[in-house]
Parts: sequence; C-alpha cells; structure tokens
Amino acid sequence: MTLSRAASVALLADHGLTPKRKFGQNFLVDANTLRKIVRLSGVGPGDRVIEFGPGLGALTEQLLEVGAEVRAVEIDRDLIGILKERPELESVKFFEADAMDVDFNLLAPPLEGPYDLVANLPYNVATPLVMRVLREAPQIRSIFVMVQLEVAERLGAGPGDDAYGSVSARLRYWAKAELVGKVPATVFVPAPKVASGLVRIVRLDTPAVDPDLAPVALIERVVTMAFGQRRKMLRRSLQSLLNEEDFIAAGVDSSQRPEQLDIQAFGALAGRIS
Ligand code: SAM
Repeated sequence: MTLSRAASVALLADHGLTPKRKFGQNFLVDANTLRKIVRLSGVGPGDRVIEFGPGLGALTEQLLEVGAEVRAVEIDRDLIGILKERPELESVKFFEADAMDVDFNLLAPPLEGPYDLVANLPYNVATPLVMRVLREAPQIRSIFVMVQLEVAERLGAGPGDDAYGSVSARLRYWAKAELVGKVPATVFVPAPKVASGLVRIVRLDTPAVDPDLAPVALIERVVTMAFGQRRKMLRRSLQSLLNEEDFIAAGVDSSQRPEQLDIQAFGALAGRIS
C-alpha cells in the first residue's frame, strides 16, 4: 500500500523528522504515478533492481509488488532507520551510502547481474550519478529515472534538439535515451518548484564509438570544449585541438555548431588528436 501524503508526513513526524532539502527529499505520494513509473520501467518478476534514494520506500514497495528483487542505497541514516522498520520492505537489501561513491561491485556483484536501475533521483546529483553508472557499472543494463524536467529533456535529447548539449552527447557514447513522460510537482511532498520527467536509458551492447579510434576521456574533452562555446562554429571552438585538415579527414564540416553533431562525429574528431 502506498503511503499517502498524510501518512508520509506522519511517519517522518513520528521520528522527529522533516524532509531535508540538502538531500533533495521530495517524496512521491501518488499511487498512480508510482505504478506508472514501475510499469514504464518494464521491470518485472525476478529482475534485480537497484534503487538510489528510496526515501520512505514508496517506489521500493511498488518495485517489490511486481516481483523485483531490490537493493537500495540511501544516504540519510534517519531514513535508513525508518526503512528497516517497515515490514513490507523486509526483503530489501539496504545500503547506507552516498550513491556517488558506493562500491558498485558490492552493491551489484557483476556475476549475479544484470541489473536495472529504477529511481526518483535526488536532483542535486542526478546527472553525475547517471554518468557514473554508465561509466563504472556495465552490469547495470538499463536506467529508468525521474529527474527534474529540464535535466530529463537534456538526457533525452539527440542532435538537432533544442535541449541537446554536452551531457546528451556524452551519454550517447554509452546508451540510447528518451524522455517518456512528465510528472507534475503536485505528486510530491513537499512539492518541488519544477515539474519532473521520466527518462529511459538503455545501455548499448558496445560503445557508440570504437574505443580503438579514440579513448572516451578524449571524446568527452572534445564534446565539452565544443559545447563550452556552443554558438561558435567548430573550427573556432576546437581550434586549439584540430585544424581544417583534421575536420576533412574526420568527415565533419567545420562550419557546423556542436548541436548538429552526433557522438560518432565527435569520436571521429577525437580520433584525429594524437
Ligand atoms: N524514492 C523516494 C520517493 O520517490 O519518494 C525518495 C526520492 S527523493 C527525490 C531522493 C532520495 O535520495 C532521498 O531519500 C534522499 O535522502 C536520497 N539521497 C540524496 N542524495 C543521495 C545520495 N548521494 N546517495 C543516496 N541517496 C541520496
């Protein structure tokens, strides 16, 4: 049973707590939204699911209801106390840790995988957390997250889209991603200032650029530098790294702006840097 708005507030109050802004604590209190997240995530019986930031366990409960096996990482010791007291969540393995530096091999042993990540992410660490998972936890094959709408649009954007930027391009080295829904601020307690978006991210079998062509760190450097001056033509923004000959050899028109390039084109440019 989903905790109602009143029950969530009461549960916190019973423990002498209020939501902590520094941990991005906006709790989901709408059963329909919770069911929708789990349905769209596609996880089902027997799936091994990682959740970051279980909060009071609202999403965790729904994940258990469809038969998933859940491991959850929560930074707030006070909430870990509440979560461990809830009998409905007995089967969940809780890790009291910062998701930004939790040991993925302990949380999600590769040999027991694959895993799917489903979470209503704390807004302050959402983007670096998604990138960390893509870089460091290949055993996590898919990520379905709720994040601030603006971030969701960026993660879901492809070349030519208004929201396409550095993180959209860098994400596409590892995965495909799409914005699959919007969620109003009213379904949270306390209500955040902005709406949220749901993003589905599915890891590619192999990175979008052949690692023999250029190391990922170099590709990321090119992407970051190009988007650092997104209104400028690539020949200007990347002039310290590449000359016209490099652009021709990479098959990239140097008069383009970064939002027109896919990650393969950035990879081809990085491949020209020795
Ligand atoms: N999943 C719950 C829900 O949907 O109601 C809570 C979501 S709330 C937006 C984010 C949760 O992430 C909070 O419980 C917060 O304490 C936790 N959190 C914040 N920063 C974290 C971090 N670095 N590592 C792990 N958990 C974190």
